[in-house]
Amino acid sequence: MLKRTSFIFILVFIFTSFIQQSQLNAKHNHFLESMVFPVRNVMSHFYDDWGEIRGNGNRVHEGIDIRAQKGSPIVAIADGVVNTLAFTESSGYYIAIDHQNGWLSLYVHLDDDINGNDNLGGRNTAFADGIYLGGEVIAGQTIGYVGDSGNADGTVPHVHFEVRYMGKSYDIYDYIKSSWERFEKYIKFPKNSVSIYFK
Ligand SMILES: [Zn+2]
Repeated sequence: MLKRTSFIFILVFIFTSFIQQSQLNAKHNHFLESMVFPVRNVMSHFYDDWGEIRGNGNRVHEGIDIRAQKGSPIVAIADGVVNTLAFTESSGYYIAIDHQNGWLSLYVHLDDDINGNDNLGGRNTAFADGIYLGGEVIAGQTIGYVGDSGNADGTVPHVHFEVRYMGKSYDIYDYIKSSWERFEKYIKFPKNSVSIYFK
């Protein structure tokens, strides 16, 4: 009996998750489909690592890690307002942009190095000039720089990129991949591209 109840519960859970996901997609297609790739470096590397189990099985990775040369510009994926500019031991320097439609984008482990891996940088190496709390940013605007601050110290420099809708993190890998393809196209054929890269 217990088994059957659990089975039904799981089915309902899968069904409601599916419905939630499709409603979300329908409502926010435009926002996600027009997002700008967050790192301005054609040598960026990423894969779908959303949902990977990390920290010896202690946590789920709720973001996509985009590896790129240290110091590569990180750009806002869409217009918005700077919601957070902060430092924590685990995240290092990070920025959150509120897109004022329920979506928030986060850019984590920004650059804290001046030379090599010295951790002697700070807000000046992590955040771009003109970025301040409450300030407006536009899609494609440089907001910070790729690094390895926080618990990423000494790893391959990368930005932990994450998007949340109403506080909940979503796997938007497919949209990131599409934004990457638009970026590559822009680099190869800038004149023919209708993309908004880069203001
Ligand atoms: Zn990550």
